[in-house]
Amino acid sequence: MTIAANLGFPRIGPRRELKTALEAFWAGRSTEDDLRRAAGALRAASRRSQQGAGISHIPSGEFALYDHVLDTACAFGAIPPGYGWSGEGPASLATRFALARGARGSAAEQAAGIAPDAPALEMTKWFDTNYHYLVPPIAPGARFHLAENPWAEAVREGLAAGCRTRPVLLGPVSFLLLAKPTDGSDPLALLPALLPAYAAALRGIAEAGACWVQLDEPCLVTDLPAGGAAAFALAYRHLAEAAPGLRLLLASYFGGLGDNLGLACGLPLDGLHVDLVRAPEQLAPALEALRPEQWLSLGLIDGRNVWRRDLRAAFALAQQAAARPGGTRRLMVAPSCSLLHVPHSLRGETALPPVLRNALAFAEEKLAEVALLARAVDEGEGVARTAFAESAAALAALRAGAADPAVSARLAAATPAMEQRASPYPQRAARQQARLGLPPLPVTTIGSLPQTAEVRQARARLARGETSATEYAATMRRLIAEAVRWQEEAGVDVPVHGEFERNDMVKYFAEQMAGYAFTRHGWVQSYGSRCVAPPILWGDVSRPAPMTLDWTTHAQSLTARPVKGMLTGPVTMLQWSFVREDIARETACRQIALAIRDEVLELEAAGIAIVQIDEPAFREGLPLRRAEHADYLHWAVGCFRLAAAGVRDETQVHTHMCYAEFGDIMAAIAAMDADVISIETTRSRMELLAAFEGFAYPNGIGPGVWDIHSPRVPPAEEMAGLFRRAMRHLPAERLWLNPDCGCKTRAWAEVRPAIANLVQAARTLRAEL
Ligand code: GLN
Ligand code: ZN
Repeated sequence: MTIAANLGFPRIGPRRELKTALEAFWAGRSTEDDLRRAAGALRAASRRSQQGAGISHIPSGEFALYDHVLDTACAFGAIPPGYGWSGEGPASLATRFALARGARGSAAEQAAGIAPDAPALEMTKWFDTNYHYLVPPIAPGARFHLAENPWAEAVREGLAAGCRTRPVLLGPVSFLLLAKPTDGSDPLALLPALLPAYAAALRGIAEAGACWVQLDEPCLVTDLPAGGAAAFALAYRHLAEAAPGLRLLLASYFGGLGDNLGLACGLPLDGLHVDLVRAPEQLAPALEALRPEQWLSLGLIDGRNVWRRDLRAAFALAQQAAARPGGTRRLMVAPSCSLLHVPHSLRGETALPPVLRNALAFAEEKLAEVALLARAVDEGEGVARTAFAESAAALAALRAGAADPAVSARLAAATPAMEQRASPYPQRAARQQARLGLPPLPVTTIGSLPQTAEVRQARARLARGETSATEYAATMRRLIAEAVRWQEEAGVDVPVHGEFERNDMVKYFAEQMAGYAFTRHGWVQSYGSRCVAPPILWGDVSRPAPMTLDWTTHAQSLTARPVKGMLTGPVTMLQWSFVREDIARETACRQIALAIRDEVLELEAAGIAIVQIDEPAFREGLPLRRAEHADYLHWAVGCFRLAAAGVRDETQVHTHMCYAEFGDIMAAIAAMDADVISIETTRSRMELLAAFEGFAYPNGIGPGVWDIHSPRVPPAEEMAGLFRRAMRHLPAERLWLNPDCGCKTRAWAEVRPAIANLVQAARTLRAEL
C-alpha cells in the first residue's frame, strides 16, 4: 500500500495558541503546567487533524516550544555553561528559554543558576525559509550524551492517544553543519562523539514503539563542505545498526539532491524522501539509484507555498515512481518538506476573493491532497478524477483572474535603458552635493521612528473603524511634524518622516498595490512566539495611486533640510510574500519594480531629493546552491535598478540592508549602483567593511554605529571610535553616519539620546578631518 505521509506540521496553532501560551508563561501569568498542557493540546489537535485528512505516517517530536534545533541541542547535551544546566537530564524550561531569549534576571532564573547576563543564542535563517533557528554553540572537545529523549516521549504520547507516529529528528550531519564550534573548527570533526547519543535516541524510539523514524538532512540539497560525504557515510552506517527493526527514512528537502543523489541513495537506509516540487527532475535518477527494498517518499505537495497542487501533474510523477520494479509496495506520498512554513488551514479565510481562495491550500488542505494522491496510486486515478479536474480548473481560473494586460504590456516595453542611471556615480555625486549641500559625514537614520502605543492605537482604531481616515491622517501628520522638528533640533542632516503609518514594511506597500491579497489567520512561525502572515502575491502588480507621497511631502514642507523618502524594494517585497507560480519570480519582481519606480518618480517630481529603497531581504533570496547564485543576483540587481534608476542625476538613491555577509555578493551590491548604502556594522565592529574595501566599493556607504537591537544607548565617543575604524576602510567623502537599522522597536527615551550622541560623534569626527 502506498503510504500517505507527512513530514512536519505547523506548531503555532490555528489561532496562534502556542504564541498566547508562551507569552502568558513568560509574563508570569501562567505556570509551567499550563504551558505544557497547552502544548500537549496543540499536538493532540494536530494529530487529529492529520488523521482526519487521511495521513497514516503522522510526524511527532517535531513540535518545539521555541525551536527544534534548540531542542535537538538540549536532547544531546550540547548546552553551554552559564545557563543552569546540571549536565544531566532534561534542561529546565528556564534554561531553554534563557538560551532562546537571553536571561531576563528573574528569580526563577536565579534559582535555576542562570547567569544574569547569559545572552540569547545567535539566531539565523533555516535554509532559504523565513523560519529562524537558534545556532547551538559547540565548545572544542564537546561531549554529547542523550540527556533526554523527546522523540521517544512523543511516540508514547501518540500511542497513548491511539496513534502510532513517526518521530522526526534533525539528522546528525545537518545538526553539526548548522551548529557553530566556538573555536571555528570543523563541526564534522565532532561527529564520532555525537553518533552514540543519536544511536541511543534511536534505541529509545524503537523501545517506545515506533516503526519508522524520520531523519531530516536538508544539508544534502546544498553544496557539502569537504568531508561532508564521508560524514554521511559514517553517520548512517552507525545509525543503521543502532536499532535493528526501526526503519530509517532520510528526508531531503528544499531542493534537489543534485550531486549528492548517489551519496544519499547509497546510504544504508530503509527509505529516502525527495523534494519533487523544487526538483521533479530528480525522480528518474532516484528511481534508478534506489535498491528495490528501499522506500521512496515522493515530496509531491509544496510545503513552501500556499497554492493548490495541479493534482494530475503530481499524479503523473507518482505513476512514474509506481512503475519501477517492486512498484507501489514501497512508495510514500508526502509534502515536499515540513508544513511548518505554511499556515494551518483555509477554513477561516472567508474574506478572500473566491477565485483566489479556491486556488489555495494551507497545511490541512495540502494533507488532503497527499492522501488523495496516495489513494489514486493504489486504486487508480478513477478515485481522484473529479479532484484532478477541480484543481486544474481552480488554477486556470486563478491564472485568468490574475492577469492585467496593461501590466504585461508595460513590462514587455521596459528597456535596458530604464535600468541605467544617466551618469556614473562620480558625476551624480557631484551634482547631488551641489543640490544638497550636506556637511561631510552627514547624519541620517534608516527610516522608522518609535512605534509608540499612540501610533499603534491610532492604526488599530482606524482598522476597527473607530476613527475616520481624516482623523487618522491628522494624527499621522502631527506625529510627522513632531518628528521633523525633533530631528532638526537634534541636528540630523537628512531627516525622515518616521514611517508611523506603517504596520509592516512589506504589508504597507502590498496593501496599496493591485495583485496582493491578505489572509486573516495565515500565520507562519518566524521564531519562537513570533509569526508573520506574508501577503499573497497572486496577480499582476501595479500601483493605482501614490503610496507614500503625502506623508513624505508633508514632512518636506516642514523643513529646509532634504527629507529622505522611504520605500521597500522589489526583491524584499517578493521575498517576504507567498508568490504566484504561473510566472517566473523574476517577472513578478519586475512588476513590483515598475510599481515602485512610479512612486520613486512621483516623489522626485514632488521635489524629494533623496529616496531610500530598502532591500533587507536581498541576500536571503540567494539560492541554496552556489551554481544558481549568479542567475538570481543578475535579475535581483536588475529589479532594483528598474525601480531606482529612473531619477535624474541630482536625485540621490539610498538603499539599506541590515546585517548580511557581503563578501561573496559584493559585485552585485556594487551593480545595484545605489548612491548610498546603509548597513548594520556595530556588532561586527566594522569587520563587514573589509568586503567593501577589498572590492573597492565605489559609492557612498553608511556603516551603522548604533545597534538598535539593544536598548543600550552608546555614548558619542563610542560611536566615534567605531566610526574611526570605518574610516580606515573607506574614504570620509563617501561615508555617512547612521544607526544600524530602523528605530521602530525602540522607545523615544532611547532614540533621543542615541541620535543626540550620533550627532555629537559627527561633530567630533568632522573636526578631525
Ligand atoms: N526603513 C525601514 C525601517 O527603518 C527598514 C527596515 C529594515 O531594514 N528591516 O524600519
Ligand atoms: Zn535594517
